[in-house]
Amino acid sequence: MTGPGGSVPPGDGTRCVHAGLPEPGPGQPFLPGPVFAAPYHLDPVAGPAAAPDQYGRPDNPTRRRLEQAIGELEGGTCLAFASGQAAITGMLLSLLRPGDRVLLPADGYFAVRAFAADTLRELGVDVGLVPTAGPYPDLAGVRLVLLETPANPGLDVCDVPELAARARAAGALLAVDNTAATPLGQRPLDLGADLVVASGTKALTGHSDLLLGYLASRDEALIGRLRGWRTVTGAVPGAFDAWLAHRSLGTLDLRLARQSANAAAVATMLATRPDVAGLRWPGLPDDPAYPVASAQLRRMPGLLCFDLGTAERVAAFLQASRLVFAATSFGGLHSTADRRAQWGDDTSPGFVRFSCGVEDTADLLADVSAALDAVAPPDDGP
Ligand SMILES: *Cc1c(COP(=O)(O)O)cnc(C)c1O
Repeated sequence: MTGPGGSVPPGDGTRCVHAGLPEPGPGQPFLPGPVFAAPYHLDPVAGPAAAPDQYGRPDNPTRRRLEQAIGELEGGTCLAFASGQAAITGMLLSLLRPGDRVLLPADGYFAVRAFAADTLRELGVDVGLVPTAGPYPDLAGVRLVLLETPANPGLDVCDVPELAARARAAGALLAVDNTAATPLGQRPLDLGADLVVASGTKALTGHSDLLLGYLASRDEALIGRLRGWRTVTGAVPGAFDAWLAHRSLGTLDLRLARQSANAAAVATMLATRPDVAGLRWPGLPDDPAYPVASAQLRRMPGLLCFDLGTAERVAAFLQASRLVFAATSFGGLHSTADRRAQWGDDTSPGFVRFSCGVEDTADLLADVSAALDAVAPPDDGP
């Protein structure tokens, strides 16, 4: 698609509202409704050759439209999965064989590490864990490197073009988990990655009402292999969730703009508070992630993290806040905060992942400040 003048590439908002929509047809809706089908009618004579859809696991037009949309935003061919974990584990299981070496983020999404420890190691895959900020080992002999940048929950980042060049030189595949950034925040395929993998459950769809995952690549042989894997294992999203996700994509640019602005305001305010420790937001100029993040990200995430010291202080903060919901996940319309240690994530007891919603910035700032004021200061505090 081109912009109004026909030559200038369209902006993010324009791309989002048009992504994956069919050509306008009189009497047709902008986004056709979900197609609910397990089997479809077959041509009694020609059989499967007569139409693109035969059975719901490999074929669904609602899902294909969503894949078209996400593929346009990521700049590659997209495959939608039932959840982020279905996409990530599908990628790992379809690409790795016994004896292969894979590098995974040591500080990334905890369920990926759990899967590696439980399943990949039992299958004879050699798993290495590397902190997102590095240092990265020699990649010789590595089959696949999975990066997660910015990493959930600690928000460190890594230099994707540099690691993509090193992976290519070593003959390794490079995949980037783009969940925190979304395709508007970062385009890993443009940065040299072979694969993008992500949860669409978070900021991409942003309404806290569905689970979704996807993979994207420009390598059609890889896509073919992963599509075959998905068809035989079956981790596909349902038609209604695919449709809801597509409907939500239209507002991605607007939602991220407010979430990012809210994160900037909340981070700036938290940085002034002596009762808040360990603040991380890659958009703060003195954050360790800032040099790489400001060069690599197209926009900063609405996600930040900080430490209130104890589980009790986090609970008191959440009880005092009227706008911030206690909830896991992130990237939704509503501001939420999650004490990660309660899930067994490898974080300190008072570590909070804070996801900015799309509330008015002044309201959110006032609420978070008042809630922190209501919490007893830390024992060793002022
Ligand atoms: C949530 C998340 C996942 C898993 O996605 P689901 O949709 O919950 O399965 C993977 N990676 C990251 C970075 C996540 O935040």
